[in-house]
Amino acid sequence: MTSSPKGVVLLGATGSIGRSTLRVIDRQGDRFRLVAMTAGSRGESLDELAAAMNPDYVVLARRPSERFEPGWTGEWRYGREALAEAAADPAADLVVNALVGYAGLESTLAALGAGHRLALANKESLVAGGDLVLDAWRDGPGELIPVDSEHSAIHQCLAGRPPREVSRLILTASGGPFRELPSDRFGDIQPEDALAHPTWSMGDKITIDSATMANKALEVIEAHLLFDVPYEKIEVVVHPSSIVHSFVEFRDGSTIAQMGHPSMEIPILYALSGPERLPNEYRNFDPVADGPLVFESLRSEQFPMFELGVSAGRAGGTQPAAYNAANEVAVRSFLDHRLSFPGIPEVVEDVLTRMTPRPVTSIEDVEAADFEARTLARESVIRLN
Ligand code: NDP
Ligand code: MG
Repeated sequence: MTSSPKGVVLLGATGSIGRSTLRVIDRQGDRFRLVAMTAGSRGESLDELAAAMNPDYVVLARRPSERFEPGWTGEWRYGREALAEAAADPAADLVVNALVGYAGLESTLAALGAGHRLALANKESLVAGGDLVLDAWRDGPGELIPVDSEHSAIHQCLAGRPPREVSRLILTASGGPFRELPSDRFGDIQPEDALAHPTWSMGDKITIDSATMANKALEVIEAHLLFDVPYEKIEVVVHPSSIVHSFVEFRDGSTIAQMGHPSMEIPILYALSGPERLPNEYRNFDPVADGPLVFESLRSEQFPMFELGVSAGRAGGTQPAAYNAANEVAVRSFLDHRLSFPGIPEVVEDVLTRMTPRPVTSIEDVEAADFEARTLARESVIRLN
């Protein structure tokens, strides 16, 4: 290889996407180099990863207790400001945002504002920030490449063709662990049941979002924003084996799909290197052994989080941020056994009907909506309890 290694800032290194990204980078030899790795509060995990990967520095967003004594002797930085500074670090060629939740918005804006190529896993920041993120992307020299497998698929199928040539985007959904469960049994679902996803191994928050179908609603909004395709032209189909990652139907009648075994390492590698295709270790797709490819309709009446999210997306303004914030509070409450599984959409619906949608013109508008939705959601959880 002749070119110098690409500098990567990896936000959320200790998470599921973060660790997959480290495996991808490690296997690519000296093609990539870690400028920085960050975590939220798990200093010990970050310490181990830093010792293995030796970045220029690490950031822990939450200050640890005085007893924390890292073994890795490189540079440690602490606090939210240090996290946003890492996202904008001029030494980076690309930034991977693998943070979870609204907490990733500041970093998304900082990376795009600094003109970086942003490999975005943190869909919540795009959904909540909406036009603010799109403006930061369009105003600068930065690039936004999706890591989410469906959006990576659509990005690859589109291959740069403009939205006017697209007649439909069809996102696939695995259907989650309760695809076939009768809805009168949803009240019995415990966090442990919902955390057992059939095809993907992921962080807790997105695993619950996949079980409620909130994840698919977030992804419809994500697709609308990323690809500038109206909601009427975005559909979802359930595909339990998660081999086809999504389809793009063009106006000439051609439908293009992107496929592969369900491993996030493939879209992560593409987000790092695309459009160049780098060699990778992967399991071959075998059309005979892996067939037949089965598709079915989404039972959206059983999974109200889907329609609630898509309606919030269509309403626009602050409603997607409110949906996202209410969902984050509801999911945390469910994981802590303070809310039932059917309580998640009840809380979110309650919050959305009580909030007044407002236009988003600044980060303060988003912050205010996020704060209000969280406050209302906490009240709603207590009422339902
Ligand atoms: P995880 O929960 O596994 O990891 C989240 C990471 O973010 C951890 O490194 C965590 O640090 C850090 N973090 C959490 N909260 C904060 C905070 N307040 N400030 C700073 N850092 C924080 O999540 P996933 O890897 O599963 O998901 C990451 C994102 O990617 C999500 O937006 C998800 O929707 C998206 N995504 C994930 C997929 C997957 O397969 N997992 C697939 C497609 C999209 P610590 O370890 O210290 O808590
Ligand atoms: Mg996805």
